[in-house]
Amino acid sequence: MGKIILRNVNKSFGATQVIPGIDLTIEDGEFVVFVGPSGCGKSTLLRLIAGLEDTTSGTIEIDGRDVTKAAPAKRGLAMVFQSYALYPHMTVKNNIAFPLKMAKVSPDVIEKKVTEAARVLNLTNYLERRPGQLSGGQRQRVAIGRAIVREPSAFLFDEPLSNLDAALRGTMRLEISELHQQLKTTMIYVTHDQVEAMTMADKIVVLNAGNIEQVGSPLDLYNKPDNLFVAGFIGSPR
Ligand code: ADP
Ligand code: MG
Repeated sequence: MGKIILRNVNKSFGATQVIPGIDLTIEDGEFVVFVGPSGCGKSTLLRLIAGLEDTTSGTIEIDGRDVTKAAPAKRGLAMVFQSYALYPHMTVKNNIAFPLKMAKVSPDVIEKKVTEAARVLNLTNYLERRPGQLSGGQRQRVAIGRAIVREPSAFLFDEPLSNLDAALRGTMRLEISELHQQLKTTMIYVTHDQVEAMTMADKIVVLNAGNIEQVGSPLDLYNKPDNLFVAGFIGSPR
């Protein structure tokens, strides 16, 4: 499961309206990219879905349940942050296991889930290391592992690769796409990088000043941009 529906979602900070009213449906299993220039409201929209911000008006539904007022932990989603937020004193294994220990999951189940997450993320040989002994890409994978073990109905990524150098960004882009193919779980991925959007997305949502300019597949946006903003941003030939 992992179908998310936003209905007329509106967000203001004080007198400043950041999201004027968005309707959007994300299908179960889709890889959706929110793309747009800095300050257009990508992170705010993601945080509204995650429950880290309250909507000013409108509703958010996940798998048929109205979660508009639900606390983040009750939404069944996993947010992967760009700052890795790993515990430096804990091993990789314990970093990944941490949310399960908090939820008082039994040790044998924890062992099984951590082993499986490590396998999927190619971290099996690094479980006893600490974050300081890992590369940037490996640390990012540990952060994703910590999300995987909770078996969320969707993963939310906010510019997860922006701290990495160009070469590593390319590798991680492929790894996240492969992860999506393996897990088949809904992923919402925020970026200002057109290349990431075009190469990773099933569906791209182009945002501009809090409004959706267009929603479509990479090919659709490239071949049939609705307007000059989309054409310019995606780099369509016209
Ligand atoms: P993006 O992620 O696309 O760069 P954001 O969602 O972070 O954009 O921000 C969208 C707009 O909302 C910006 O103008 C930003 O200054 C404003 N904004 C974001 N968070 C807050 C906040 N907590 N208080 C006031 N303004 C905010
Ligand atoms: Mg942002």
